[in-house]
Amino acid sequence: MSYDFDLFVIGAGSGGVRAARFAAGFGAKVAVAESRYLGGTCVNVGCVPKKLLVYGAHFADDFDHASGFGWSLEKPSFDWPTLIANKNKEIERLNGIYRNLLVNSGVKLLEGHARLVDAHTVEVDGQRFSAEHILIATGGWPQIPDVPGREHAITSNEAFFLEQLPKRVIVVGGGYIAVEFAGIFNGLGSETTLLYRGEMFLRGFDGAVRKHLSEELTKRGMNLQFNSDIARIDKLDDGSLKVTLKDGCELAADCVFYATGRRPMLDNLGLENTGVQLDDKGFIQVDEQFQTTEPSILALGDVIGRVQLTPVALAEGMAVARRLFKPEQYRPVDYKHIPTAVFSLPNIGTVGLTEEEAREQGHSVQIFESRFRPMQLSLTHSQERTLMKLVVDADTDKVLGCHMVGPDAGEIVQGLAIALKAGATKQVFDETIGVHPTAAEEFVTMRTPVDA
Ligand code: FAD
Ligand code: NDP
Repeated sequence: MSYDFDLFVIGAGSGGVRAARFAAGFGAKVAVAESRYLGGTCVNVGCVPKKLLVYGAHFADDFDHASGFGWSLEKPSFDWPTLIANKNKEIERLNGIYRNLLVNSGVKLLEGHARLVDAHTVEVDGQRFSAEHILIATGGWPQIPDVPGREHAITSNEAFFLEQLPKRVIVVGGGYIAVEFAGIFNGLGSETTLLYRGEMFLRGFDGAVRKHLSEELTKRGMNLQFNSDIARIDKLDDGSLKVTLKDGCELAADCVFYATGRRPMLDNLGLENTGVQLDDKGFIQVDEQFQTTEPSILALGDVIGRVQLTPVALAEGMAVARRLFKPEQYRPVDYKHIPTAVFSLPNIGTVGLTEEEAREQGHSVQIFESRFRPMQLSLTHSQERTLMKLVVDADTDKVLGCHMVGPDAGEIVQGLAIALKAGATKQVFDETIGVHPTAAEEFVTMRTPVDA
């Protein structure tokens, strides 16, 4: 049977674009449908604009520290609408780049909502297309719990387009987005409260990292409230918000920002017309080769709910393109040793096992830890401290995990990830010559294990 396309990709985000471009490069006839924005979440309402706002927020530190290095400045002022307008211009530029990438690689781009009609047919704006393979790469969407007054709250989607910087912000959640945005608002001058329902935010990160970051954020004036959650939100006549907590306390705010996780984006996708099944968390169920329970349909990225990171969606996209159209180059995605950063101020950078995971997995562990005042702050009044930590298997000497809280942790951890993937031992770290004077050299100079 002949089809209109060899591969029809639904969603031009990180994973969809990667799969489409490489499939086309391997000679396949490919179409991509995109309903909202080229480049998906990461480019439009995720990694990229978030990082630009983090850079913006970081200037507060730079201005504050400059006097120690002899600079005198008039009191700096900040204009949110300028930052947002410049950010929007940059995103438009990137949207254009994504369009060119697709078109120049021979992919047919259809701008509209795609709906599955059957296992080999997709409908976009009333037009039907057949395809041998269909790839669902529709990403995720923020979710707000069912709290009375939730309509007064925003999510990351809206935060990127606020007209004014709110004076008082309450951020709800304790994951990546909550911590990053609380840092952005706090750095830019909003009075910022972070509410998290558990004992300590950033569940799944190393315990020392979580505690260290909480101390640093508190030093920066952020109000961290753990074991705390919202019972209701009321809008007052003056437009401000009254937030009532579950323990009965009341807080006043101009903005309540929920960052309580993301659901798979399956709206009006037509899955019911196919044999595609969902897993117990509602994400699309796939096997190790990203095939759904409908043999002609694959899925990847945030919509399968494995690891919701852009480089992971890219790796999955690459694997799908190779598996379908260049099987001799196919390699499964390796989910071990995925490095990650939380772009809080200061950053977290981490790769490999946390101390808790290493112990749970039965390793006998040696811990190396260093806490110090970064040199770049030595002429300033900042009391910020950096944490670096290595988790080592005491029997094999293999480095199981590297963790850092401090300036540029996200940059530093990328190189460490290569070392861990290559199976480096602590001895290899010790024999590696440092770059002096840097903070990063501390990772190769920690000699004495801390008492476990
Ligand atoms: P997406 O990039 O979400 O793309 C899905 C696309 O499908 C969208 O463009 C959508 O409009 C389209 N679509 C959906 N349904 C349809 C339909 N029916 N028809 C047509 N098109 C459709 N990751 C990092 O690695 N680093 C970071 O710093 C980082 N920061 C983030 C910050 C925020 C605020 C958020 C929300 C996420 C962040 N992420 C980050 C996560 C990252 O953005 C996602 O993991 C990544 O974008 C997932 O890619 P994807 O291809 O699965 O989906
Ligand atoms: P996360 O899953 O990381 O965190 C969700 C947070 O919300 C958790 O602290 C969770 O608490 C809490 N939560 C969940 N449900 C409720 C509820 N009903 N009431 C109160 N709190 C609740 O999601 P995010 O939205 O922060 O981010 C989504 C994903 O996007 C991330 O997991 C990450 O993969 C990706 N991302 C990556 C970034 C990066 O690489 N720098 C940046 C931003 C996003 P608990 O822990 O108790 O369950």
